[in-house]
This record gives sequence, C-alpha cells and structure tokens, in this order.
Amino acid sequence: MTPSKPGDTKPKPRTTGARTGTRSKPKDGSASKAKPKGPPRVQLPPSLTVAQLSELLNASAIEIIKQLMRNGIMANVNQTIAYDIAAAISKGFGYEVSKIPAASRSAEMKKHLAPHAKKGEVLEARPPIVTVMGHVDHGKTTLLDVIRKTNVAGAEAGSITQHIGAYQAQIDGRKITFLDTPGHEAFTSMRARGAQVTDIAVLVVAADDGVMPQTLEAVAHARAAKVPIVIALNKIDKPTANPDLVKKQLFDHDLVIEEWGGDVIYVPIAAKKGEGIAELLENILVVSEVLELKANPSRRAIGTIIEAAMDKTKGPLATVLVQDGTLHRGDTVVVGDAQGRIKAMFNESGERVEEVPPATPAKLMGLGTVPVAGDILTAVKDDQEARSLIQKAGAVKGADATGGIGAIGLDSLSAGIADGHVKDLNILLKTDVQGSIEPIKNSLEGLTTEKVRVQVIHNDTGSITEGDVLLARASKAILVGFNTRPTLGAQRLAELQGVDIRIHKIIYELTDEIGKALRGMLEPTYVDVVEGRLEVRQLFKAGKKEKIAGAMVIEGKASRSALARILRNGKVVQESSVSSLRRFKDDVREVATGLECGIGVEDFMAFEVGDVIELYRKEKSGDSSH
Ligand code: GDP
Repeated sequence: MTPSKPGDTKPKPRTTGARTGTRSKPKDGSASKAKPKGPPRVQLPPSLTVAQLSELLNASAIEIIKQLMRNGIMANVNQTIAYDIAAAISKGFGYEVSKIPAASRSAEMKKHLAPHAKKGEVLEARPPIVTVMGHVDHGKTTLLDVIRKTNVAGAEAGSITQHIGAYQAQIDGRKITFLDTPGHEAFTSMRARGAQVTDIAVLVVAADDGVMPQTLEAVAHARAAKVPIVIALNKIDKPTANPDLVKKQLFDHDLVIEEWGGDVIYVPIAAKKGEGIAELLENILVVSEVLELKANPSRRAIGTIIEAAMDKTKGPLATVLVQDGTLHRGDTVVVGDAQGRIKAMFNESGERVEEVPPATPAKLMGLGTVPVAGDILTAVKDDQEARSLIQKAGAVKGADATGGIGAIGLDSLSAGIADGHVKDLNILLKTDVQGSIEPIKNSLEGLTTEKVRVQVIHNDTGSITEGDVLLARASKAILVGFNTRPTLGAQRLAELQGVDIRIHKIIYELTDEIGKALRGMLEPTYVDVVEGRLEVRQLFKAGKKEKIAGAMVIEGKASRSALARILRNGKVVQESSVSSLRRFKDDVREVATGLECGIGVEDFMAFEVGDVIELYRKEKSGDSSH
C-alpha cells in the first residue's frame, strides 16, 4: 500500500463500494444508486447503528467511531445513532445525504440490531484487557505507572495501589484492564499454555529511538495472537524525538497508521509527563468497541491466573483475571489440577471485594496450592464437580504430554498433510546474520505446495531464545536456526514443550529437509538429545595432542561416551566427541551437575575460558525413550 500524503488526516470516501453505487447491500435501496459523476450519495434511515453506517459509507467502524468521538459522542459498533448525527458524519466523509422513510428499512439491517448472544444467554459489554509491549527502555513501565497513578478505577486521590499483576483504569466512567507485566514474554508464555487473556496490545515506541528489535518481536507476538496493536509513540517531549522517522519505520513493517491511509491507531504521548494518556485510553476504547468484547456476568466464573506466590501467613495467594462470569467469595474453584474455596478476594487497592465481574483482576485467598501463571480457574457447583473436572483435566494433560496439543514436529507433518489437517507450516527463522534472512525466507516460502502453505511468521538474528520457543509453541511453528543455536534455557524449554528445533548451516540442506517433509518423504531422522552442559573455567595442558579444560557441569551430567560441541557466544566452534573425563586424577564415566571435572574433546585444543561444552547423544526422532 502506498501512503497518502502524510499529514493528510481528513477522512475521504473510499474509491470502491457505496461511492459508485454499485454495492448490492442493502438490497432495498437504502444506499442510493448514485449517478456516475458528482459526489457520492447515501440515503440514510431515521436511525441506524454504527456498524450499519460503516457499511453504507464503506468505511471502517474505527473511522466512524473516531469521527463520533471528535464530535463528543462515545458510541460502540452496535449503538444506534440518530439521522442528524449519521448525516453529519457522512458529510464529513464527502457524501451527499438524503433520508429514507423508516418503513423501508431492510430486514438485514434489523438483524444487525439483534444482540449476538447465544440462546438463553445475556451478554454484556466487558472492559478490554490490554498488554503493554515494546523495546526495553522505551517507557512501558513508566506508562503503566502513570496510568495506574492517574486513572485507577475507584482509587481515592493519593491512595496506594498494590502490584497484583493487573489493574483497572477508568476513563469517562469506562474501564480498561491492564496487565501489569509489560513485554511479550509473559504474554506469549501464557498463550503457549493455552491461555489468551489479552484483547489489545499497546506497542510503546520511543520517538527518539524508533523501531528496535524487541519492537518487532512484540509485533510478531501480537500478530501471531491476532491481537490488534495500538501504537503509543512515547517520549515526544524529547528534543531528539523524530515521529516522522518512526512512522516511516512502522510503515516499513506493515504497520500503516491511519494518517497514512492504514488502520493502525497511533497516539503520541510523553508517559513521563502524563501527556497524551487520556487520548491513548480513549483510543484503546475505540478499538475495544470494534472488537465488541462481551461476557456473561451471570454464569460461573472462568479466568486465568496471572501471578501467584506463597504467603507465610495467608497461604497461597494468586491473582486471577476473570474472563467470563462472576467470581464470588465462597465459590468452589478448580485451578490447574487443584481444588480450592475462595476465602477472600482483594482488588488492586487492597480492598476486600465480594464479587469479581468479567475482565477484572483480583487477588485470591483460599487456594489449596500455589498455581502457575497461565493456569485456568474455573468456578464449579460443588466438590463433586470439582473432582470430576480435575480428573478430566488430568486426562487432557496426559494427552498433551504425549505430543498432541499445540506442538508440531516436522516428522509428524507428513501424516498431517496426508489426512488433510495440516494446511500451514509456520516457521520461525533465526539466523546468524541479517543478510541470510531474505534468501532463506524466500527459499522456504517458495516450497509452498497446493496443499500446504509455508510461511515464515517471524525472523530475526541471534541465538534462539526462550521467547522464540514460546512463540513457536503458541503459533504451532517449527523453529529453524541457520548458523545459530538455542540458548541453554531455550533448548530445555523446547524439549519440555515439544517444540521442534532444526539447525542447519547450508541452505540447500535446510530446504531439502523441509521440502521432503512437505512431500511426506522425510526419512526417520536423528535428533540431538542434550545430556548436559559444562562451562570452561580453567585451561590445562595435557600433552602435545590434548588440551584439558577444567569445567563445571552447570546442567545435566557429563558422560565419557557423549558427543560434544563447543559453543562460544552461542555459536558452534567445533563438533566432536568427549576424549577424556576426569575427576581429580581419576578417569570417570560420569560427572553430575554442580561438580567440576577435567574434560578433553577429540581433535580440539583451542578451549577458551567461558566456552560452553554441550554434551549430547543422537536418538531417532519420535523415539519415546527420551
Ligand atoms: P521500559 O524498559 O520500557 O519499561 O522503560 P521505562 O519505563 O523504565 O523507561 C525508561 C526510561 O525512559 C526511564 O528513565 C524513563 O524515565 C524514561 N522515559 C519514559 N517515558 C518518557 C517520556 O515520555 N519522556 C522522557 N523524556 N523520558 C521518558
């Protein structure tokens, strides 16, 4: 898309649809059959909803709501607005307006007015849940703090809010729930566990620093979760701020702001000074209107644990974010695979509360054990229902552990293609240098077949991190490392989460492997099972052809029979095998975690202090023995 002139913010009618009068909907002619020339015309009923108006004007609901806001009217997509207002908005979009009588309103339009509730269920609007993301030092914490200080719902001026993992802000009597842990790691780690709590991501970009690696990571994470992004362009008070450059950078990454003809909302702020905060909150509400977030406050609560800890006097304490239903004091709940009864609940101001409605956080007392962030909380009728739910949850967990939900392995891909349930192969690509990304991405995406679309959902340079593993897991993607390796934590997490990591040094071998998998021809492969990691602390000489490293086993174990690779700054400098292993002067077969040893590696003399020696064995992929 080409941007329209920067700075040109006046809404214009789009060039298609209602403007030419060729649109078929609504069929009863409530949109005029416009003449081929002259300004576009629209016929409006005596009243209509924002959604209907957006359809008639062929404009997004966001644009309409923003125009309404500029005219001092807060409305959501389903809200009905009067003819006069609709006419004024339509004129602002360049339309010539006339009125149609109420009698000829189409049935289709009336349908829009009906609530979207399931049979017998009454849905009510709920606050949006927002996560703040962005590059380090761009002002995420400052933003969360200033909103907390100035807009926390119900807090008296000067009262102290506690950090419970989330809080609710209030603007013009409407609430917004903020998750208090900024960044995409927590967001994606919850998603990897199957819990998605965020509705909207606020992407903080410092106007003096611009789009940085973690900005792009955050974008990838939000996009993978299909969560809309609102840009908060921070630090505009700084003399070095360069908003135009940032807009251009955003544009280059397909974040086209409204001003340039896109649909990404962008709000300049100075978090430190509290400037632009109200506008940011209003815009979050605009996006939330479009999302039509609803919940049923009358049902039993279901929510997600966002943080938890053991308190010496109060026992397990956990913050839950109720997502649907209402949680009451005294409710029996199941959290993860444990049962509890809510003894007391507290809001972010430390006040006791009796009930917690949808999209609202509260700290809970009365759980049997300390849950984990991402655990689902379900309120149940009684102890019996709790037990049966725990049993069912156990069965699902078992299925997950044996490789089913979420994770996808290259080896299982062929079967999935054959029976037609795998239609996308998502790849997360990490390379050593920027220059490798484009050619590898193109080669991989070029493997797309009629049946399976290969898509690189995120690419970056550097080691494979825990964040990458979580994103891969949450997006059912395979992680491909080109000339780069996972960090210790990432490798362990990948094993735990069943995320497939493929490391290559030659593009052809990489595309060959993925290509074969797509054609269902992948030979059983051998995977590296890491047994332990050592860190080199000292260097010894042990004769002309051997050098011994004094090393500490920092993870797993060291065994004499293992294969070995030497890593320096996350990169492999040598692949070989263990040639000797000693404790003090004795040859040994194994050395456990936390112990020091002397280790020699076949054909390798060039140890440096700080090198990591990764010890592994080869195992047939899919072999359940590891
Ligand atoms: P985070 O790492 O993204 O959470 O960033 P912080 O909120 O810790 O902010 C990093 C630094 O930027 C701090 O020194 C803040 O005081 C400063 N900062 C944050 N917002 C603004 C702003 O609007 N203007 C200026 N000049 N500095 C800011």
